[in-house]
Amino acid sequence: MMDGLGIRFMADMPATQQVILVCNHETWLVVLSYLIAALGSFIALTIASHCANTLRLGMRLSWQLIGGLCLAGGIWSMHFIGMLAFQTPIAVSYDLSITLFSLLVALLAGLIAVLVMTESEPSLLQQILAAIVVGLGICAMHYSGMAALRADAQIYYDARLFSLSIGIAIGASFAALKLAQYIHSAAQRKKRWLKYAAALVMGAAIAAMHYTGMAALNLVSSAPTHLALRSADNSLHLLIIVAGITLLVLGLSLTAAWAGRKLDEKDRDLQRVNALLVQLDQDKDSLELIAHYDPLTEQLNRRGFNHAFSAALAEHSSNGRGLAVMFLDVDHFKRINDSLGHDAGDELLSIMAKRIRSAMRESDIVARLGGDEFCVIASLENNAVAQTLAQRLLQRMKEPIKIAGRNMLMTTSIGISVFPQDGDTVEELIKHADLALYQAKNAGRNTLHFYSRSLTQKASQELQLEEDLRQAITKGEQLQLYYQPIIDLPSGQMVKLEALLRWQHPQLGLLSPERFIGIAEANGFIDQLDAWVLHQAASDLQRLTEQGYGTLKITVNCSAMNFASNQLPERIEQVLSQAQSNQRLELELTESALLTSLDKAINKLQRIRALGVSIAIDDFGTGYSSLACLRRLPLDTLKIDRSFIQDIASSVQSREIVQAIIVMARALNLRVVAEGVEDLAQLQVLQEQGCDQVQGYLFSKPRPLSHICADYPPHCAVLERVCAQA
Ligand code: C2E
Ligand code: CA
Ligand code: CA
Repeated sequence: MMDGLGIRFMADMPATQQVILVCNHETWLVVLSYLIAALGSFIALTIASHCANTLRLGMRLSWQLIGGLCLAGGIWSMHFIGMLAFQTPIAVSYDLSITLFSLLVALLAGLIAVLVMTESEPSLLQQILAAIVVGLGICAMHYSGMAALRADAQIYYDARLFSLSIGIAIGASFAALKLAQYIHSAAQRKKRWLKYAAALVMGAAIAAMHYTGMAALNLVSSAPTHLALRSADNSLHLLIIVAGITLLVLGLSLTAAWAGRKLDEKDRDLQRVNALLVQLDQDKDSLELIAHYDPLTEQLNRRGFNHAFSAALAEHSSNGRGLAVMFLDVDHFKRINDSLGHDAGDELLSIMAKRIRSAMRESDIVARLGGDEFCVIASLENNAVAQTLAQRLLQRMKEPIKIAGRNMLMTTSIGISVFPQDGDTVEELIKHADLALYQAKNAGRNTLHFYSRSLTQKASQELQLEEDLRQAITKGEQLQLYYQPIIDLPSGQMVKLEALLRWQHPQLGLLSPERFIGIAEANGFIDQLDAWVLHQAASDLQRLTEQGYGTLKITVNCSAMNFASNQLPERIEQVLSQAQSNQRLELELTESALLTSLDKAINKLQRIRALGVSIAIDDFGTGYSSLACLRRLPLDTLKIDRSFIQDIASSVQSREIVQAIIVMARALNLRVVAEGVEDLAQLQVLQEQGCDQVQGYLFSKPRPLSHICADYPPHCAVLERVCAQA
C-alpha cells in the first residue's frame, strides 16, 4: 500500500549501484516556513476562540471554514516553503496535480482541527480521535506533497524517522487542541498572550513534523554525476504559488482579525445594549412597584387599587358578573399607634394585610388605601358570597395577635357595596362602601354592613347635622351639660360630678356625645365644643358653691385632639379667671391622648396642674399604656373602664385585672374610680377590693344639674340611700 502512495523504505532499497544523495536546507527559508506555520496556527486559534462566542449557527460555520482554510494554508505553505528550502544535487520538480491534491488533504485536516477546537467541551476521547485524524491528515498532506517530487532519483524513507514524524504530527495536533481549549477557558486578559505562545508551539510542532519527515527522506540515485546542490527546478513557479498562498493566508488572517474585532465590538455593544435594556426593564418594574404598591404591606396602594379596580369593573361590566367592594377599618387602631408606637402600628398593619390576603381568593384584589384602611374587591358568583367572604374576613382579623411582646385582640369593621346594584362607577362604589363602613363603625364596630339607599340619605343627614352642630356651638343654646355623680366609698358621699355633654337637637331630640363628638373632631370645632363645656362647668361650679356644695368637684372630658393643642393650658386659665372659679376642676384624658408624645404631655399636664386643675386618666385599660409611662405622668385619678366593671361579679379574670389596677394605682398614689357600676354585686366586689370611688347608673344616670341636686342634697349619704333602696 505504501508503495502505491510512493512511499518506500530504506529496507526495500536494492543493494546495488545506489548512491544516497546529500541534501541540505536553506536556513532562511526554514525560518520563514516556521513563521508561516506559526502564523497559520495563530489565526486558527483566534478564529476558534471567536467561534466559541458566536451563537448563530451560520456565522459559526463560516468562521470554522475560514479558520480551517487559514490553518490548512499555514500548514501547506509551511510544507512547500520547506520544500523550497530543500536543496538537492540533482534537478527536482513537482507534479502540479499531486501538489493540489496535497493541498486538498491539508484543507480537510485543517477543517477537522478547527471543528474540534471550536467544540465548547469536547471529551478526551473526542480530542484524541481528532488529534489522530488531524495528525494523520497532516502526514498525508506532507507525504502526498513529497510524492509530487519528480527527480532523477528514488525516494526511500527511514522507517524510524517516518514513524516519528507521524507521532509528532498526532502529538502536536493533540497539544494544539488542548491549547485551544485552555485558551477558551482562560481569563480575557491572558488570552492574547496565551494565543501567541500557543501559536509558536503549534508552529514548532508542525515544522518539527515536516523536518522529521524530511530527515526520514533519502534521495537515492543510480547515476552519481551532478553533485552541486540546487533547489527544485520549477522553484520560481513554486515560489509564486507559495508566495501567493502566503499572501492569501496573510490576507485571510488580516480579514479574520479585522472581522473578529468588529464582531467583538458588535457583541460588546449588543451586550451593553442588552444590559441597558434589562436595567431599564428593572427600573420600570421597580418604579411601577413603588408607584402601585404599599411598601409596608406589599399590597396595592391607592393608585394601584384604582388601576386594578377600573380593570376589574370593565371586565365585570362585559361578563355580567357581580363584584363586591369591601372597605375594612381596624377598630381602635389609633390606640395601638399612640400607646405602643408607630413601629408596633406598622407591624400590626402588615400582619392584618397578610390575614386579609390569606382570607381572600387569588383572583381578589387587596389594597391598603392609607392608614388602617384596607379595601378588597372580590368577584361574585352571587350576592351571598359577599356575606360569606366578609364574615370570613371578620373572623380572621379577630384571631389573637402578638405585637411588641403583647397578646391582643383586634377587631375590624367592614362596609360593603356591590356592583351593579349599588353603583356602576368606581367612584360610586367606593363612596357607597365607605358609607357602609361608617355605618358598621356606628353600629359598635366589629361588624359588617352592606350599603343601602337609606345610607345615602343618612349621609346627607350627617352633612346637615354637621351644619347644625356648627350653629349650635356658636349659639350655645342647644347644648347642655348633664352630670353624673361620683361616690366616695369609705364615706358614701358624692364627691365629684362628671360633666357629660348633650345636644338638644330641634328635630332629632336629645343627642349623646357619641353622636356628635366625632363630627366636631372631624370638622375642626372640637376645641370650641370643649371650651364651651369648660366654661359651662366653671359656672356650674359657682352655682354649686352657692347651693352649699362647697367641696364638690366637677370633672370634665377633654378630647385627645384638644389636648394636643399647645394653647390648652392658656385656654383653661382664661376660662377659670373669667368664671372666677375656685378651681375644683378635674380634666379627664384618655391614655391615647396622653401617650402620643409623652414629654410634651408631661409638660402640658404640669402647666394645667399648676392652675389647680387635677388630672384623671379616663377609660383606663382600653389603651395599651405601659406602667413605666404612667409613672412619669403627673396624674391624680385613674378611672377604670366600664368594660372591666361590667362582669366583675361573674368573671374571675375581670376581678383580677381590676384588683391589679387598684394595687398599681395605690403604688402610684392615684385615686381609683370605677366607672359603670350598675348593681350591688359589682359595688360589693369593688368595696372588697378597696376601690376609692364609684360612678354609674346604680347611683344615677347623667342628668341635668338641678335634678342631681334635687335628689342628692349637700352632705347626703348617697351610698347608704342607694343600698337601702336596692
Ligand atoms: P366617658 O367619659 O367614658 O363617660 C361615661 C359614659 O358612660 C357616659 O356616656 C355615661 O352616660 C356612661 N355611663 C355612666 N355610667 C354608666 C353605667 O352604669 N352603665 C352604662 N352602660 N353606661 C354608663 P355619655 O354621656 O354618652 O358619654 C360618652 C362619651 O362621650 C364619654 O365617655 C366621653 O368620652 C365623651 N364625652 C362626654 N362628654 C364630653 C365632653 O364634654 N367633651 C368631650 N370631649 N367628650 C365628652
Ligand atoms: Ca369621662
Ligand atoms: Ca370613661
